[in-house]
Amino acid sequence: MSLRVEGARKAFRAGGVVALDGVDIATEDELLVIVGPSGSGKSTLLRAIAGLEPLDAGRVLIGDRDVTSLPPAARDVAMVFQEAAVFPHLTVAANIGIGERARGAGRRSIEARVREVAGVLDVDHLLDRMPGELSGGERQRVALARAMIRVPAVCLLDEPLASVDAESRLRMRGEIRALQRSLGVPMVHVTHDQLEALAMADRVAVMHGGRVLQCDTPTALYARPATTAVARIVGPLPMNLLASEGRVVGVRPERIRLGGDGLRATVLAVEQAGEECLVRLEAPVEVVEGDLLARLPWTAAPEAGTSVTVTWRTEDEHHFDATTGNRR
Ligand code: ADP
Repeated sequence: MSLRVEGARKAFRAGGVVALDGVDIATEDELLVIVGPSGSGKSTLLRAIAGLEPLDAGRVLIGDRDVTSLPPAARDVAMVFQEAAVFPHLTVAANIGIGERARGAGRRSIEARVREVAGVLDVDHLLDRMPGELSGGERQRVALARAMIRVPAVCLLDEPLASVDAESRLRMRGEIRALQRSLGVPMVHVTHDQLEALAMADRVAVMHGGRVLQCDTPTALYARPATTAVARIVGPLPMNLLASEGRVVGVRPERIRLGGDGLRATVLAVEQAGEECLVRLEAPVEVVEGDLLARLPWTAAPEAGTSVTVTWRTEDEHHFDATTGNRR
């Protein structure tokens, strides 16, 4: 099955906001993660695919079907939201099976399907519990199980891990990946957490200002960001962007070294992060955005206020056009 969005545009009259400014995406049997800062249009795009938000222009195609003017129920799309909406007065099993029951499936067949999908999402030991007896992560898995009990044509997840604690979140990343593999349909997952995106995705679409700036594998996005904006959004830290004779030179903080014959700099601050540290530097170069940052092993941490030299290898440089911000 394939999912395509072509030339999607959407403006909200209130506030005159252009939420989608010509979005194209094409995906197949894979986990596509949409990442971008808050307000970049991610939810609007997902809602448009689901049929919850009519587009001003553009098309949504699922397989060979143009579903642009179809209502949500006719699109065969499963969607899970940030806040798992489960019915508090129904057991986990009844919550998961509710859609099948509404479709008039028999009791035996519902029970079998509930068991199967509960197994995939690791909630089979919770089937007799009430939602009030579940953790946030468990509730979210129940919501996923309910949405995926029947294999949909397309699966949409809107920040499903946002309100789940850090430990469950790590585990659920893997479970969502496994779910996509077992369903074998396009799964589009929205998050503002780019590390989550890089960790989970087959491909990542980076959104900013209602546009998709780049859509690529996590490895390619990190190694070859197409624009300075992508270079700032994707990675463990924003890329350093330095003005240099009509172009912008980018160097990742994790590629910066101290010492040797390089740029003179003053250490403004040092923050420890486990075995590493984040060093904020001031140097006689024009930093296009933010501060000059270096990520170093904690054992190599300099003292704040001291003077150091900063170096990097030429092969670790990324070059961008100063006017357009596009990779050169
Ligand atoms: P994201 O999911 O990336 O945070 P959204 O798609 O929710 O972004 O929103 C994109 C832009 O559209 C934002 O500026 C938001 O304020 C605006 N927006 C979203 N929904 C509405 C709405 N129903 N009415 C008016 N503006 C909206």
